[in-house]
Amino acid sequence: MELDCLVIGAGVFGLSVARALKSAGRDVVIVDAVGAGAGASATPLGVLAPHAPDRWNEKKQVQFEALRSLPDVIKALEQETGIDAGYRRCGRLIPLTRAHHDPLWRGRAADAEQNWQGFGNLSVVEPEAVWLSLDSAPFGAALCGLSARINAGRYCKALSASAGAIETGFRLYRLDSEGAVFEDGTRLQAKRIFLTTGADAFRFLPDEEDCTPAGRGEKGQAAVLRLADGPPVDAWPLIYKDRLYIVPRGDGHVAVGATSERDYTAEDTTDHQLDDLIARARSICPRLDGAEVIERWARLRPRAANKRLLVCRHPQLDHVIVSTGGFKTGLAMAHTAAAKAVALA
Ligand SMILES: Cc1cc2nc3c(=O)[nH]c(=O)nc-3n(C[C@H](O)[C@H](O)[C@H](O)COP(=O)(O)OP(=O)(O)OC[C@H]3O[C@@H](n4cnc5c(N)ncnc54)[C@H](O)[C@@H]3O)c2cc1C
Repeated sequence: MELDCLVIGAGVFGLSVARALKSAGRDVVIVDAVGAGAGASATPLGVLAPHAPDRWNEKKQVQFEALRSLPDVIKALEQETGIDAGYRRCGRLIPLTRAHHDPLWRGRAADAEQNWQGFGNLSVVEPEAVWLSLDSAPFGAALCGLSARINAGRYCKALSASAGAIETGFRLYRLDSEGAVFEDGTRLQAKRIFLTTGADAFRFLPDEEDCTPAGRGEKGQAAVLRLADGPPVDAWPLIYKDRLYIVPRGDGHVAVGATSERDYTAEDTTDHQLDDLIARARSICPRLDGAEVIERWARLRPRAANKRLLVCRHPQLDHVIVSTGGFKTGLAMAHTAAAKAVALA
């Protein structure tokens, strides 16, 4: 039997595609090797942050439009499913560590006014010393009002509640002109197949013209800490310093991450690199004193060769549509990637 639409991979990209297909009136079957949110999409961080507003370009505009439209998408999803996805426009603090950072960020505030079109602003502030230590922000901090956070696990749960049942235990082995073949030998045929297996998707794509792969998995490690007694942090901004994020999660815990690793032996294990990150977080955020690490987590980010979203027809299989490449901002971009993927169907 030929299905109408088959979505392979139930991360935030696949679930968003399935939801968009469903609302376009298509019949959808979703399969996954493990289950909804089993890959990178259940990141404990859930950061939704824009690129810097200066030197504006097409990539920044595309991401800005995704960030701007996301709150309405989340609101509709929450109303439909009754699941709170934990979206909050909490802002983001970036410590200023050199004297020239102050005029630099004040200049960027003017760029933000122009390029963020009033959706969020940028200012230079004195941070709360218990949240961001004065030693680590000797010239204050930039506060990015466009940044937000989401509870990624609950976002996936809400998307899967909306998208429909997910068949698990289907690990894709091969795509061909007849359909999809899974590791247990099952073959499924569909008018349209959506390849949304995250970092794994690249192995089903041909190499680029220069023989480099279309993309790769980049490992990231993150942790969740339970705070010792003290003031609540849920309303406080994210902190970002030199690739380190400190994220109040809305559940009383704080997430810390993430590493960026090209070389790794196992994709879901954590090691000393995460310990180093946690130590750095404690050194700049006094509120983490005495906080206990309650979760250590690692997965692969899907990183396309040009670091951009990869939403296209499969170059060799016309009935296959690829949607991946979320890399470090996949949570913000999944709904716009889905709209683009469904338009190709
Ligand atoms: C440590 C870390 C922190 C991150 N933090 C953030 C953040 O704060 N904000 C942000 O926007 N982004 C963040 N990201 C990136 C974000 O998680 C990804 O861009 C996004 O989740 C990718 O979604 P996806 O659906 O493409 O892939 P995935 O979420 O990985 O989903 C792929 C799905 O496909 C399934 N699958 C895989 N292989 C197969 C197969 N062969 N057959 C069948 N099914 C298969 C998996 O089980 C999984 O369910 C982070 C990533 C990491 C690793």
